[in-house]
Amino acid sequence: MYTVEPNQDYRDQSLRHDAELSSDELKADATKHYDECYRDYLFAWCNRENLALHYGYWDEDQPYDQHQALLNKNRVLYEKAGIQPGDKVLDAGCGIGGSSIWMAKQHGNPVTGITISAKQADYAQEHTRHHGVQDLVNFEVADFCATPFADASFDAVWALESSCHALNKGDFLREAWRVLKPGGRLVVCDGFLLQRRFDERQWQAVVTCLNGWAVPNLCSRDEFGQLLQQQGFQSIQCHDITPQTQGSADYMYKVAKRLQPVQKISQWLGLRTKAQTANYLVGLAQHVLFTERLTEYCIFTARKV
Ligand code: SAH
Repeated sequence: MYTVEPNQDYRDQSLRHDAELSSDELKADATKHYDECYRDYLFAWCNRENLALHYGYWDEDQPYDQHQALLNKNRVLYEKAGIQPGDKVLDAGCGIGGSSIWMAKQHGNPVTGITISAKQADYAQEHTRHHGVQDLVNFEVADFCATPFADASFDAVWALESSCHALNKGDFLREAWRVLKPGGRLVVCDGFLLQRRFDERQWQAVVTCLNGWAVPNLCSRDEFGQLLQQQGFQSIQCHDITPQTQGSADYMYKVAKRLQPVQKISQWLGLRTKAQTANYLVGLAQHVLFTERLTEYCIFTARKV
């Protein structure tokens, strides 16, 4: 039985098997993950239109496919956060630019996207030109826990499946608070731990996901809510969208199953890096987290008043 201690310390601890890695080493590991897995994501998950490195939102009422579900996630976050067309947005952990480009294209928002990967920033910039929104969107390499922006620079901070990479989620929230204008909005969408005691098989699935996606730890939704409160955020709301995310978890599992022979052969031939193989294995392991309810998937919205 593996127990993740539900105390203050979790925030500064990595749960991964290489738990002794420092914050800088963890960041370097995440950069390597995104640099080396760029093509895998485009091949097996997203496309050049949605550029999405996140789970989709599958509404029961509509027959979404993967592409639509990925785009739909942007719409849901935008609406829940109450972002307005003129708002200046910081896309904190922007990946290859999917949400930034979507906001500029659909609503004309000026967006700054930041990522720790220089490669991602270059790719995102390239895609921005392809989508014709280069006048509205720009990308920079920066740490979302310590950005180069002045206080009160943004109307909204958007973190879609990115804040999980922070060793201490409070560091991310402190910086989001600093760069937000008074009245500004924060939207965070991520996975949260639902339980703290795991059997061997469940723990393997959790650790495979953390290692494969270069995430040091996950907190529970209550812990995250408390961190938001401690930071001073108001109007904190949490929406559990696990059911609307299940479609993507299933899709990822099916793709991973289908690619199993290709993964095995190319791994045997030495054509897959360690990061790529670890990323592949998450495709299978993440399904356990969903089906056994080890994690939930939520959208938090909050305001700096
Ligand atoms: N939000 C994007 C990408 C999600 S992947 C999307 O939905 O498509 C997570 C992103 O967070 C990656 O771009 C990664 O580089 C970024 N990231 C991880 N740690 C970061 C940090 N400390 N500072 C800034 N970005 C970070």
